Amino acid sequence: MGFHNRHHPEPINAMTVDLEDWGQAVLDPRLPVTPRVVENVYRLLDFLDAHKVRATFFALGRVCEQYPDLLPAVAAAGHEIGSHGYGHELIYNLTPEQFEADIRQATTVIESQSGRRPIGYRAPAFSITNRSSWAGPILSRNGFCYSSSIFPVRKRRYGIPDAPRFPYRWADCDLWEFPLTTVRLAGWNLPLCGGGYTRLLPAALMAAGIRSLNRQGRPAILYLHPYEMATGEVSWFRQQGYSISSKRYFMQSLWRSRVPARLGRLFAEFRFASVGEVLRLNSIDDPAQTPEDHPELCLLNS
Ligand SMILES: [Zn+2]
Repeated sequence: MGFHNRHHPEPINAMTVDLEDWGQAVLDPRLPVTPRVVENVYRLLDFLDAHKVRATFFALGRVCEQYPDLLPAVAAAGHEIGSHGYGHELIYNLTPEQFEADIRQATTVIESQSGRRPIGYRAPAFSITNRSSWAGPILSRNGFCYSSSIFPVRKRRYGIPDAPRFPYRWADCDLWEFPLTTVRLAGWNLPLCGGGYTRLLPAALMAAGIRSLNRQGRPAILYLHPYEMATGEVSWFRQQGYSISSKRYFMQSLWRSRVPARLGRLFAEFRFASVGEVLRLNSIDDPAQTPEDHPELCLLNS
């Protein structure tokens, strides 16, 4: 099935945030959640509000449990709430039973704080790979309508290099996948939008990539972490006594101060909305399909 929006030559792109703390995401998922995440989330909410962008926040259950005011603030700002699981363990390191317990624990926290069951999911560190593709049917039977967890690239720790590059339906379950955005270059898929790439890639290159996709009627999806634009993040963790190698310190600190201007430029040129909104608009606008073809999409804006 195609995902080509024939009515809108300039598609709406998806903006996403993985709501998590730097230590668990980058160093070790078992580390304590620090108050840095609170400051970083509020800074990001102000930034998105200033640019009038409504995003999807994939929330980590453990963070929300420790700081119960965060998720209500994100929801009140008009953003869609999805799940990033509970403990940020990589899926291919878990058994299917452990994975199911993790997403259920996260759903309980998220639903109790936001009043809604999350229907979108993002895997920790894109850890749905060929080794963990059993995760899709488990997400589907736990009420998820979509996942944005597969990076169609070849990386040491993540990626399914031959996965489709644009939103598609999983073959063996009732689930949409919105894969992370790549561009094709010399026969390779290269990651384009998000996380550290937002710090490392020139804004002009990212803009050119999105422009080219949008001209083909394809939506891009951007992902960001609340700590990505916090300039003192890595040195704060080092000051607290966390062990951080020099290479990691350098790579993780690089060009954080450039992120707001880069994102601001993208927000000025392109249209962005939550994943639920993008999937709903694109699918239902396709004249070959009707809302009845996708009853799950009716949930997206309910
Ligand atoms: Zn994460």
